[in-house]
Amino acid sequence: MLDGGKVLEPEAEARRAALAARDPAGWSDADRIAWMVPQFEAAEGQFRRYGSDFAMEPATATLADPPSWFGLRASRAAGGLSNLWGAAVLPYRQEDMAGWPITADDLGPHYQAVAEFLPIAGVPDDLEALLPAFPMSGRTGLAPASQAEALLTRLRAARGAIEALGASVGGARQAVDTSCRRCGLCLHGCPFGLIWKAGDTLEELKAAPGFDYRPGQTVVGFAESPESVTVHLDSGESVTGTRVFLGAGVLETARILLASLPGLDALVLRDSQHVFLPMIQRWRNRTRPDKGAFHTLPQIFVEIDAPEISPHLVHAQLYSWNEHYARDLIQNYGSKLPFSHPFFTALARRLIVAQFFLHSDHSHRISLTRTQDGRLTASLEPNVNMERISRAAAGRVGKVMGKAGLTALTFAARPGGPGSSFHVGASLPMAREPASGESDALGRPNGLLRVHVIDATSLPAVPATTITFSVMANAHRIGTHCP
Ligand SMILES: Cc1cc2nc3c(=O)[nH]c(=O)nc-3n(C[C@H](O)[C@H](O)[C@H](O)COP(=O)(O)OP(=O)(O)OC[C@H]3O[C@@H](n4cnc5c(N)ncnc54)[C@H](O)[C@@H]3O)c2cc1C
Ligand code: SF4
Repeated sequence: MLDGGKVLEPEAEARRAALAARDPAGWSDADRIAWMVPQFEAAEGQFRRYGSDFAMEPATATLADPPSWFGLRASRAAGGLSNLWGAAVLPYRQEDMAGWPITADDLGPHYQAVAEFLPIAGVPDDLEALLPAFPMSGRTGLAPASQAEALLTRLRAARGAIEALGASVGGARQAVDTSCRRCGLCLHGCPFGLIWKAGDTLEELKAAPGFDYRPGQTVVGFAESPESVTVHLDSGESVTGTRVFLGAGVLETARILLASLPGLDALVLRDSQHVFLPMIQRWRNRTRPDKGAFHTLPQIFVEIDAPEISPHLVHAQLYSWNEHYARDLIQNYGSKLPFSHPFFTALARRLIVAQFFLHSDHSHRISLTRTQDGRLTASLEPNVNMERISRAAAGRVGKVMGKAGLTALTFAARPGGPGSSFHVGASLPMAREPASGESDALGRPNGLLRVHVIDATSLPAVPATTITFSVMANAHRIGTHCP
């Protein structure tokens, strides 16, 4: 495995270990604030965990002239962007895979195989009938935060009305160990390392016989011959083998493909557009949502199956109170209203945010080309239907949540910039009969036999229901069935 291989700096790792050595019940407010502050101070568009930037490259490392709208970033870390992710996992639905060379049933055994090492917290509920490719029976969930618990009860009570709106609701599924300590620091780096990251599995792989891990080796291209593939590194060295599995994240994979495939001038990334929809709860909290034990990962999933909005599922994940809410409200509106901080702090305790995603058919696309220095240029291919469909989806999510006592502030819905969902791919889509710019059902770029593209690059499209679990299952499928 040739890998970027960056890891958390030793000082940051020592800080993590020191906090994790103490029981969260004994942490002071100052401990918590000190843990969070570096994340609040991250540069615009960059995500940090553990006070470190090791897991995300700045835009200029990948793009020669990054446009301001461009929200996607690459990673050269061991474990890549999974060091930063929100850990929401769901399988794909067959109806969202129409026209693909593989089916949800083809992915089924590979979801199961991935779940042998990927912890998946969650319980069987109404989502299972809609997304049967990965059953939840026998699993345990994370206890929802108090606000989410109250909302789930209300959603269950309004089930009939919600179903009439084409929605199915259930607890979130997260790739998190169920020994979660409910310390509430999830969005800043789990001190206990309980949010799964690919680096955890990499540590296990390192012990496997015949597995050779080479960190700090940046791949810049490859060349295939009838007998072998040679991979070129930025150091000028090369490595030759009989088969290559390419999964460097969609931006880095694009760089490598554009440098390696003669005649391929551009790759077009498809985005799953995401939108943040703030909602105010109309009921009173029984307990303070910012006090006590809770996690701040997604709490509830809502799937909208409404052909009048989209032939595909709209996927929403709901977040209850977290420390960003009051800060964001005060930053955005506080300066206009003197003495308003206490009001916004109290309002934040009644705020629940839905982050919803659209299928890539409704989203903008990003065309990538290669510059002379090996970086990329990005240009936007707007989708004229995106705004209309996201407005309709926001309206429907708001209506559904209205049945459970939330008032959606649809006027304040905020779409993320293209790529910023990080649910992006399908730039070399698998096809039954691949043409130039496509890959076969084993992720092999048209005309190649020994190179398999195993990240989201080879997905035929990006359905809304979270990307990583399906990419992992597809990679496992390719690894299982390749010659
Ligand atoms: C803030 C945030 C929240 C997210 N939340 C979710 C979520 O809740 N659910 C979900 O499904 N997805 C989520 N995602 C997306 C998820 O993190 C990605 O889909 C996933 O990490 C992609 O995995 P990957 O291995 O394809 O690429 P990456 O994670 O980018 O990993 C790339 C790997 O390739 C290596 N590499 C890169 N370039 C080179 C090179 N040139 N040579 C050698 N090695 C190289 C890197 O070191 C790394 O090991 C989120 C992402 C972010 C940033
Ligand atoms: S609440 Fe979040 S940060 Fe705390 S232990 Fe659980 S997953 Fe980790």
